[in-house]
Amino acid sequence: MASRILTGSSILAASRSALSASKTIPAASIRLLSTYDKHKDTLEALGIHKQNKGVFDGEWKGSGSVMHSVNPVNNEVIAEVTTGSVQDMDTALARVVEAQKLWREYTIPQRGQVLLAMRNALAANLHPLGKLVALEMGKILPEGVGEVQEYVDVLDYALGLSRSMSGSFIPSERPGHAMIETWNPLGVTGVISAFNFPVAVYGWNSAIALVTGNGVLWKPSPTTPLCSIAITKLLEKVLREQNLPTSLCSLVTGGSDVGNKLVTDKRANLISFTGSTAVGRKVGVAVQERFGKHILELGGNNAIIVTEDADIELASRAILFAAVGTAGQRCTTTRRLMVHESVYDTLVGKLQEAYKQVKVGDPLDQGVLCGPLHTKSAVEAYEKALKDIKAQGGEILCGGEVIKTGDLAKGNFVMPTLTKVSPDMDVIKNEVFVPILHTMKFKTFDEAIHMNNNVAQGLSSSVFTSDPAKIFKWIGPAGSDCGIINVNIPTNGAEIGGAFGGEKETGGGRESGSDSWKQYCRRGTCTINYSGQLPLAQGINFG
Ligand code: NAD
Repeated sequence: MASRILTGSSILAASRSALSASKTIPAASIRLLSTYDKHKDTLEALGIHKQNKGVFDGEWKGSGSVMHSVNPVNNEVIAEVTTGSVQDMDTALARVVEAQKLWREYTIPQRGQVLLAMRNALAANLHPLGKLVALEMGKILPEGVGEVQEYVDVLDYALGLSRSMSGSFIPSERPGHAMIETWNPLGVTGVISAFNFPVAVYGWNSAIALVTGNGVLWKPSPTTPLCSIAITKLLEKVLREQNLPTSLCSLVTGGSDVGNKLVTDKRANLISFTGSTAVGRKVGVAVQERFGKHILELGGNNAIIVTEDADIELASRAILFAAVGTAGQRCTTTRRLMVHESVYDTLVGKLQEAYKQVKVGDPLDQGVLCGPLHTKSAVEAYEKALKDIKAQGGEILCGGEVIKTGDLAKGNFVMPTLTKVSPDMDVIKNEVFVPILHTMKFKTFDEAIHMNNNVAQGLSSSVFTSDPAKIFKWIGPAGSDCGIINVNIPTNGAEIGGAFGGEKETGGGRESGSDSWKQYCRRGTCTINYSGQLPLAQGINFG
């Protein structure tokens, strides 16, 4: 039985029930917003109020349903957001299209200067924004700050691109002809983002989309609207100061109805979708249907291989971060660990000891390494996964519990879990977005590579070894089939300078570094004849 339980549709169902529940909560319940009051200074400094408008297209508004942003530490409402309707999305699209007409005329270095101002505005708010990410998403504060830093880094990178992006001058076979490749903006980039990186995913996309001359329209996750409002307010201020139309960076919060409007509208020339494979599959088909372009960044099922010649101490530290960091809610979280049979007991023994030391708790508290899961439905997914593991003959080595007593009982806290399974079990085939790491033994390196590749997803992978022959096999044609192929580092924590994304059911898209910027562009092959003659290609003589 497949164990994909935290599907896009289940999260959507949860968001929908949150949406409808929100309508039934009386206005007086706003008095219960104790999380807001506790963190009032930070939230107010970022322009977040108890009630917020969730649409920005040059002005703040919202004619959709009222939604609650919920604190995963105690399931209290942080603040309310009036989300966007399909009509709001329609209007926002029209406004971004208009704004982009001006933006595309900026020289690329001029665009870079605007991005520099955005970078400085974000850097000045690094800590408050990082705290908001921790509050709303539930990741620990250092990771929340790190996520905002990633956006700052991508803006630095885009500033560099503004002075280095270049096309080719291609040799022409015809005398007196020049062949040039041009890269012009596509127009509007629609960014649809997932809950787990409520700031960085938009950062990767918007920085590159803007430097290449596009306007950006953001549809964030329905459960992290406050992060998107805070970021959009900062960008609005910068754009105003730069005398640019503020609708260049528009925002429409809401659920699948507004997402679907963006995906199916021809004015969104590129859709960059980050989310589950289940939803991404539908989005990809819908965008293709209208011959739009898409970048799909979907689910992962990432593995680490530890060989007999690996540095076991280094590997165990990396595995702990990769499997427990962000409470297992990174697309690059390590979910499968394949260990050579000769070092399995030593490594897994070390991990069991390390897991016992992990402090689970409020992500804002110092020393906490594992915060809550983002939603209650994720806790249900964790419980179901535990049942599936046992039903299929797997063993729980440590963890395996929802925290139901004490201070953490009101939140979505679970114990990071290690299992012992065999490679043929269904439970390891699919991504369950929780901190469960499945361990397995292997005998030969070829067998381990086969185990790594023998899943539908192809995002991130890593080998720990000191053998150069294994390293080069791993990164070669018979090695890992993932988009991210690491050696002696975890599967997560990618740098922004490399292209980020994965193969197979991870969608094939690439964001951020390397030449990913080309995906946000219309490629032109221009042949210019300055000869005064008309020689034809392939030597054709036409009359
Ligand atoms: P999700 O698929 O449930 O939602 C993602 C976004 O899609 C949300 O904004 C949602 O509102 C929107 N959406 C839902 N239905 C839609 C529709 N019909 N049309 C348009 N938009 C629609 O994902 P999630 O639970 O928020 O995020 C977790 C998933 O994201 C995991 O699978 C994770 O691996 C993946 N992820 C991948 C990457 C990557 O780079 N590969 C990065 C982060 C997260």
